[in-house]
Amino acid sequence: MAKIIAIANQKGGVGKTTTAVNLAASIAAAEKRTLLVDMDPQANACTGLGIDKTALEYTVYHALLGEADVRDILIKTDLDLLDVLPSNTDLIGAEIELVTALAREIKLKSALEAIRHEYDFIVIDCPPSLGLLTVNALTAADSVLVPLQCEFYAMEGLSQLMNTIRIIKNQLNPRLEIHGILLTMFDGRNNLSHQVTVEIRKHFQGQVFQTMIPRNVRLSEAPSHGVPVLLYDVSSKGAVAYLDLAREIIGMGD
Ligand code: ADP
Ligand code: MG
Repeated sequence: MAKIIAIANQKGGVGKTTTAVNLAASIAAAEKRTLLVDMDPQANACTGLGIDKTALEYTVYHALLGEADVRDILIKTDLDLLDVLPSNTDLIGAEIELVTALAREIKLKSALEAIRHEYDFIVIDCPPSLGLLTVNALTAADSVLVPLQCEFYAMEGLSQLMNTIRIIKNQLNPRLEIHGILLTMFDGRNNLSHQVTVEIRKHFQGQVFQTMIPRNVRLSEAPSHGVPVLLYDVSSKGAVAYLDLAREIIGMGD
């Protein structure tokens, strides 16, 4: 039965999509059957994997609305064990169309139920908001991974996210755990980066991943080649960091 991890933070640009794509690819590279679910209408995760979002017949939107079988939506990738449940701008409509639907928060959970046993890990990339799409992701998930950028305002808005997680845990998904805080875009030459990591590790004792993701230009270049960083430059610091993170996460399940 797959372990489902939602990558969430309502702030944009903190490294959610970079983490979702490269963590999923690194887990697949470790020979675990992996599914990446793109829950962001911007579909950056799809683009980053070379999927043409304008050419999709079905997307996660149709899964949420019950208009297509998830198996007909799945797309294979260049990595043998990595599949994607793609999205595109259709998904903007789901947020509105689901408002009046019964049990609107559990649509993704229900859709994934049919294929959950076919994967070891399911990674969900969330949009930069705490709306219904993120609520669906957190309701379907076993745990949430929160990327935090190593910058002065890193923790701003975090209490809102923690509050949302608490409400979903209490009302919709008692299994939900905070898997961990992931420090992203760490710059070793920058004093502030060091200060922020110390502060966050102190504040969230025991909840911060050992692995930190460095600021690395290869990570920002790989998406324009339509591949995860490990297929672009496997020896780059970015690739090594996400492979380490995958090992840390797979190890936690043992
Ligand atoms: P989010 O999904 O939270 O909005 P992204 O993963 O799209 O964030 O990252 C925002 C931008 O920062 C993207 O252009 C991405 O390529 C870049 N980026 C993310 N992580 C790193 C990193 N560790 N090093 C360098 N650039 C990064
Ligand atoms: Mg994103």
